[in-house]
Amino acid sequence: MDETAIFKISYGLFYVGSECEGKKSICVVNTVAQVTQEPLRVSVTMLKGGYTHDLIQKSHKFSAAIIGKNAPLEQIAHFGQISTHNEDKLSGYEVQTDILGNPLFSKSCVATLCCKVIQEVDLDTHTIFIADLVDARTLSNEEPITYAGYRERKQHPDSSADNKEVTTEEKAQSWMCKICHYVYDGEIPFEELPDDYVCPVCKKPKSAFIRV
Ligand code: FE
Repeated sequence: MDETAIFKISYGLFYVGSECEGKKSICVVNTVAQVTQEPLRVSVTMLKGGYTHDLIQKSHKFSAAIIGKNAPLEQIAHFGQISTHNEDKLSGYEVQTDILGNPLFSKSCVATLCCKVIQEVDLDTHTIFIADLVDARTLSNEEPITYAGYRERKQHPDSSADNKEVTTEEKAQSWMCKICHYVYDGEIPFEELPDDYVCPVCKKPKSAFIRV
């Protein structure tokens, strides 16, 4: 089986925020999806162990801001960074509060969603939260970013990936964790990393990485 086939599924990129008992967090995920139209419901799949995951599980609510195509990479990286002090990530940024009390970061975003969790599904490494959409706003007619487009811009920040064609050779060879989709971007070639290397996000071993 060619497991890389699964990466051909197209995803967006989102700032997901939640709040519980005054604790707030925002992180970046590629897993928000609409699941039904009537009633209007969405799902978000979150890696267990994350601060935002735990806040959603406790508070049964979250916000999702759909990131625009030209959002600054540094901004996405800032909220995507692994941090045990998640609340520090929010300071200095224009974070709003949605009608359910979730923190919401919508700069360079095209739309925002406010979601109330009605069900969760335990999937061992991840939890899927299914939620009623209780509020939604369109902010811009700009295209949303895709996860593939984001990875392309990240790998080739100078190429302005949107208007320069990247050769197949340039595109090749990155290693992604199958569990959490973290893309290895260290200076040491992935093959030369020690055998006890683990994914910095989900802590799975080197064998969980796949060449994409
Ligand atoms: Fe991982």
